[in-house]
Amino acid sequence: MSTKEKLTFDVIVVGAGLAGSAAAAIAARNGLSVAMIERGQTPGSKNYFGGALYTHSLLEIYPDLWDRKPPLERPVTESGFWFLSKDGMVRATVQGGKMQNDPIDAYVALRAKFDAWWAEQAKKEGVFIIPKTVVVDFIREDEKVVGVITDRPDGEIYAPVVIICEGVNNLLTQKLGLAKHDLKAHASALAVKQLISMPAETINARFGLPSNEHGLAASVMGDVSMGLPGLGFLYTGVDSVSVGVGVTLEALTKAGIKPYELLQRYLNHPMIAPMIAGGRLMEYGAHIIPEGGWTTMPKLYTDGALVAGDAASMVNALHWEGTNMAIMAGKAAGETAVEAHQKRDFSAKSLSAYRARLDKTFVMTDLHQYRNLSHFLKSRPDFMNTYPAFLNDALGMFFSGFGKPKKQLYKDILRSLTDRRPLVKAAGDMIAFGRTIMGF
Ligand SMILES: Cc1cc2nc3c(=O)[nH]c(=O)nc-3n(C[C@H](O)[C@H](O)[C@H](O)COP(=O)(O)OP(=O)(O)OC[C@H]3O[C@@H](n4cnc5c(N)ncnc54)[C@H](O)[C@@H]3O)c2cc1C
Repeated sequence: MSTKEKLTFDVIVVGAGLAGSAAAAIAARNGLSVAMIERGQTPGSKNYFGGALYTHSLLEIYPDLWDRKPPLERPVTESGFWFLSKDGMVRATVQGGKMQNDPIDAYVALRAKFDAWWAEQAKKEGVFIIPKTVVVDFIREDEKVVGVITDRPDGEIYAPVVIICEGVNNLLTQKLGLAKHDLKAHASALAVKQLISMPAETINARFGLPSNEHGLAASVMGDVSMGLPGLGFLYTGVDSVSVGVGVTLEALTKAGIKPYELLQRYLNHPMIAPMIAGGRLMEYGAHIIPEGGWTTMPKLYTDGALVAGDAASMVNALHWEGTNMAIMAGKAAGETAVEAHQKRDFSAKSLSAYRARLDKTFVMTDLHQYRNLSHFLKSRPDFMNTYPAFLNDALGMFFSGFGKPKKQLYKDILRSLTDRRPLVKAAGDMIAFGRTIMGF
């Protein structure tokens, strides 16, 4: 192929997910020609999450977000933890107060709708979207990435910068030697989810939401994961409820539990089943979450290429934050590509500005702070079972059995803890958990 016939852009973005469309939009807005290659039929068609999107990150890319009428479901006006025991639940959720910030901080969304719109916004910035196309390898010259090879006939596309936003299954990142290993079983969770359709009025009544302008995001701990290191979730859409659970691959394999059995058990839980009774199953899916965060993060740049989002393990699993990290990283990668074009320098040294940009954001700070979480949960396998069950017993006892001397009540509560875990070990667990999430 002669040089003239080469299909060439200033930037190629691989993957039209949250990171990809953000990176592409920023690069195109700054005058670069950008091709965004997506393997799905349409952007978003293969994407899956819980979940909630975070307003701050959407506004980073589109300050006029609300004029663009994003296809969001309900604002999250109530959020918190549900602690499940075998047959009970303690709810610790917050509503009102800071949950009424303007704008509301999180919105429930459905990815198939949202990602298509997110990519459409990038297209409006001038991005050329190439769907139904898989990037299979890179074109290299003198070890530098100068383009990609796709699965199309004559599918070579050239650009001096390639931004890899391929999601958790980061085969291309591995191909470049940036990620040293495949997914680590203890640091990757397999999440399974059902999207259940229900009339909006039923959702409002069952979840105590005053109107369709109110929504719930619950992180669920305890019996939901059968005591394995993992979390469940429940999000209310306008006329659907997303219910799912994610557990580390290692723990699932060791316990010999099938993911769909875990989900079915959660859906059948006596506290959960009535909430979704009569709903119609619309979608069922499974997806990996790269929970290793900092510990499994690949190198973020090389000559001619950058990596952003799940492909770079940018997820804070405890807070269900991944989309905002992907968008912030996409933005930083797009800005770095623009700067590299201004300098006409696409070397690893020039592209290291991406890492410097990210270091100034919450993305790297948080991932570093939570770096020991996977290890903490692995080393204390009963943590997710013991305390939610104890909390249920303790509060259950406190609010029942009236007429008993209170001294006896407190003794019983204490015993329900020490029967599960000696006091010294329980105190050690709390201190270790505190140190882990504080990043000490
Ligand atoms: C069950 C579940 C619940 C979650 N809940 C939340 C939540 O509530 N809030 C939150 O913030 N985060 C949540 N996350 C995490 C969040 O979904 C991810 O962090 C986020 O989607 C990462 O965005 P991304 O752009 O990096 O990757 P993705 O959104 O996965 O996008 C990657 C894109 O690349 C495309 N692609 C991949 N390989 C190729 C290739 N070779 N060629 C062309 N295209 C390719 C894919 O088709 C896809 O469109 C959840 C994740 C899961 C699994």
